[in-house]
Amino acid sequence: MNPTDNRAVSALFRVFGGAEPPVVAEAHDFATRRGMHRHEFRVFAILVPLTVLVGIGEGLVRLLGPVAGVLLSVPLAFLALNLLPFILVARSQSMQWRLWFACCVGWAVFRREAGGIVGLMSYVWLALGVMSLAAVLVLGWSASMRWRGKPGVAWRMFLLVAVHLGAAGVGIKFGWPWAVLCGAGIAGFFCWAVLNPYSRILGPVRGATGDDSILITIDDGPDPHDTPLLLDLLDRHQTKAVFFMIGEKVRAHPELAREVIRRGHEIGNHTLTHPQASFWCASPWRTRREIAGCQQVIEETTGIKPRWFRAPVGHRNLFTHPVATELGLQVMAWNRRGFDAVERDAGKVLARILPLHPGDIVLLHESTPIAEQVLGGVMESVSSHVVPDLSGSSAAPRPPEGGTTDKEVSGDR
Ligand SMILES: [Zn+2]
Repeated sequence: MNPTDNRAVSALFRVFGGAEPPVVAEAHDFATRRGMHRHEFRVFAILVPLTVLVGIGEGLVRLLGPVAGVLLSVPLAFLALNLLPFILVARSQSMQWRLWFACCVGWAVFRREAGGIVGLMSYVWLALGVMSLAAVLVLGWSASMRWRGKPGVAWRMFLLVAVHLGAAGVGIKFGWPWAVLCGAGIAGFFCWAVLNPYSRILGPVRGATGDDSILITIDDGPDPHDTPLLLDLLDRHQTKAVFFMIGEKVRAHPELAREVIRRGHEIGNHTLTHPQASFWCASPWRTRREIAGCQQVIEETTGIKPRWFRAPVGHRNLFTHPVATELGLQVMAWNRRGFDAVERDAGKVLARILPLHPGDIVLLHESTPIAEQVLGGVMESVSSHVVPDLSGSSAAPRPPEGGTTDKEVSGDR
C-alpha cells in the first residue's frame, strides 16, 4: 500500500488505516475526493460529541441542577462543537480531528478521578491516548525502515548496538536472568522479522500483486536444462513471468538470461551467489556485494536493470532494505508456494499451490527435477480460469527500459 493512500488522521488509525473508502463529511471534501478513513470517522464522530456533551453537561448539572443542566448542555455542546474549530484555527478537517483528539485526551487527564460516566469517558480517551502513543512509535519505526542507503544502514547498526547495550544495562541493574530474557525477546523479534518472508518489520515488501492479476515468479535460474523448457511452456500459455536469477548463474549462462528477456519476461535480482544459509545474518558490506554484484551482472548481460529483489529463501537480513532500495530495487515475496525446491513429488507441490486466487504471487523454482511438471500444472490451472490479457493491467510499475512487457496473467476469475 502506498502511504499516501492512508486516509486516517490519527496515528492510531494510520497504523491500521490503509486505503479504506473515504467517508465524505463536507461538500468540499466530496469534490476533492478526500475525507477520513471510514472506521476512524465513525469512532470519532460518536466519541467526540459524546465527550463534549458529557464534559459540558457535568459542569452545568453541578451549577444549575439536573433538569436545567441536561436541557442546556445539548445546545451548548452543539455550539461548542461548531465554534471550537474556529477558535482553535483548525484549517483542515484532519487538523480539526487532531485538535479534538488532543482536547479530549487533555480533558481525560484532568477528569480521570471523577468517577461515573465522566470517569468512564476519561478512561476511554486515556486508553486511546496511550494506544496513539504506541502508534506514533510504530509509524516512526516504519518510516525509519524506509531510509535507504547509508543513513538506513547506520540507523539499523545503531539499533542493533542500542538494543544489546539496553539488554546489558538491564542485566547490570536487575540481574543477568533479566538480561537473558531481554536477549531472548530481541532474538525472537529479529527472527520473526528476518525469517518470515512477509514481515514488514524491516521494510516494505510486496507479497501480492495488489489487483486481479496472478504473477508467476521462477527462482534460482538460469538453468541450461530447465530454462528453455520453462520458456517454451510459458510461450504456449502466452504467459509472462519474473525470473529471479542468481548472478553467478547468469554469468555462466548469459545467453539464457538474454533469451528470457528476448521472450518478453522480466529478470529479478536473487543475489550474486544465493547464500541461503547465511544471508539472514550477513553484514551490510556482504549484503551490498551480493545485491549490487547480481545487479551488475544482469545489467551487463542483458542491458536491463532489474527492479525487483528477492532474498535467498526469503530471508532478508537487517540491512537488505536500505541496500536494495538504494539500488532502485523493490523487495518481492510471494503468497503461494509448494516447497518445490525440496519436495520431489510434483503432485504434492501442486496441491500446496493450487487453487490460485486473484492477487497471488506464485513462487516456483528451476534447477529442480520437477520444475517443468510444476509449472505445467500451474499453467493449466491458470489458463482454465484466466483469460490472458498481456497488454492490460500490470500489478507492477513498468520497467524503466523498454525491453520487457507485462509480466502478469491478468483477468477475472
Ligand atoms: Zn532461491
